[in-house]
Amino acid sequence: MIQLQNYINGKMCPPAGGTYIDNVNPATGEVYAHIPDSGIDDVNNAVLAAQAAFDKWSNMAAKKRSDILLRIASLIEQNLQQLAEAESLDNGKPVWLAKQIDIPRAASNFHFYATGILHFASEAHAIEGTAINYTLRQPIGVVGCISPWNLPLYLFTWKIAPALAAGNCVVAKPSEITPYTAFLLSELCIEAGLPAGVLNIVHGTGPNVGAAIAAHPNIPVISFTGGTKTGAEISRVAAPMFKKLSLELGGKNPNIIFADCNLTHAIETSVKSSFSNQGEICLCGSRIFIERSIYDKFKNAFVEKIKQLKTGDPNDENNFLGAIVSKMHYEKILSYIDLAKQEGGTILCGGNAIHPEGRCANGYFIVPTVIEGLAYNCRTNTEEIFGPVVTLIPFDTEEEAIMQANSTVYGLAAILWTDNLQRAHRVATKLHSGIVWINCWLLRDLRTPFGGVKNSGIGREGGFEALKFFTEEKNVCIKF
Ligand code: NDP
Repeated sequence: MIQLQNYINGKMCPPAGGTYIDNVNPATGEVYAHIPDSGIDDVNNAVLAAQAAFDKWSNMAAKKRSDILLRIASLIEQNLQQLAEAESLDNGKPVWLAKQIDIPRAASNFHFYATGILHFASEAHAIEGTAINYTLRQPIGVVGCISPWNLPLYLFTWKIAPALAAGNCVVAKPSEITPYTAFLLSELCIEAGLPAGVLNIVHGTGPNVGAAIAAHPNIPVISFTGGTKTGAEISRVAAPMFKKLSLELGGKNPNIIFADCNLTHAIETSVKSSFSNQGEICLCGSRIFIERSIYDKFKNAFVEKIKQLKTGDPNDENNFLGAIVSKMHYEKILSYIDLAKQEGGTILCGGNAIHPEGRCANGYFIVPTVIEGLAYNCRTNTEEIFGPVVTLIPFDTEEEAIMQANSTVYGLAAILWTDNLQRAHRVATKLHSGIVWINCWLLRDLRTPFGGVKNSGIGREGGFEALKFFTEEKNVCIKF
């Protein structure tokens, strides 16, 4: 049985209370690891270690910090296979997917910010003949990073890399459901020579470790990715302490298909934007709005393709979908499929769990599910399901498509298919979302601002936005 440890003050250590939580492999339903059930004492120890490390780390030349982060990036690359297998074991996603997406992106996050910090500059404002103002952007201190289970190492490093590059020390918590790659990362940080206390990883539950980070008086900055409800709770705790917050929350993204689009391309990409990573990507398009004149054509071709997708053992590279991350989430998704039926939806394909033969017979697998016949504003079409379930909704006019697309409390990403350039620009400006992909999906440039509007969050990650977030601005005015 694998036993994970916390990473505090440069060392692997057991939780202060000595207790552990079972960690389940969702593809088999079996416990395969124990993870520290840490609490407030561990978070306090991590904060003390981070505070002690801050002076040296924040005053280290950016080039030197950059070199250490680049070493971490290349160690992630060197350990691609082991990390991909660990990610799959923990999360249920296919190993091929973790190898193609999750782990390379984790390495890129470190590469990107290790080099980005060398180009980070600030503004100067001259008052002609009188004075000059310049803006200092200084590291803040100890920052808290809390991340979810869907893209575990990918999203964990998306926060940690810019925080460290900017000169902060970090207390981080991965999801207790998928902690394995964060644990392996701590070993790589030691190997890369990251000074003790600069990064501390505390494993445990949200209500224990996550809440202790959110409430800690000596953690003035929190970067959080996860559900909207948890984001609201963190805001409630952090706001009276005037903490700086970045919240990347849930979504219910529209995928709008206009009749004037390249349909073949739209269908091929919509398969991926609907069901990649079992639909457990905050950027997946789960509501597909289709112009009525091509509704049947899209539906028939799309459903035909979905029926061909294989679901099962994450180790089998023929499977497009692996297991759902946990029993609880699996039951939640199935309950939404039941709700869709109660709300009058018709299941066009999927709609059920499967139990593959062999080692995965007790795993949590759901077949990709396509539903039609639901009102755009019913619960199935407005609440986040975060699984392999999409709905098809016809529309008649551009205005109607925009109105329906904007009709949820979320606003993370939107996808739009059209070959009409004017329409593309026009609709993009009217969609309530932080990200719009036109004729593509998940085409990422790490320099761009990333984040949502409405209940999908506040603040932006990515590019210099993240370096700005993880630094404090100070204006200095010198009179001539
Ligand atoms: P949760 O909100 O349940 O958990 C996210 C993290 O917060 C986990 O590490 C969790 O710990 C921790 N946590 C739970 N309770 C608290 C608390 N009271 N205080 C502090 N931390 C806490 O989200 P999920 O892990 O279920 O992730 C899925 C959600 O994340 C979806 O809504 C999805 O849309 C969203 N998401 C958003 C993205 C974006 O960029 N906007 C990207 C990816 C996902 P533990 O798991 O140990 O309980």
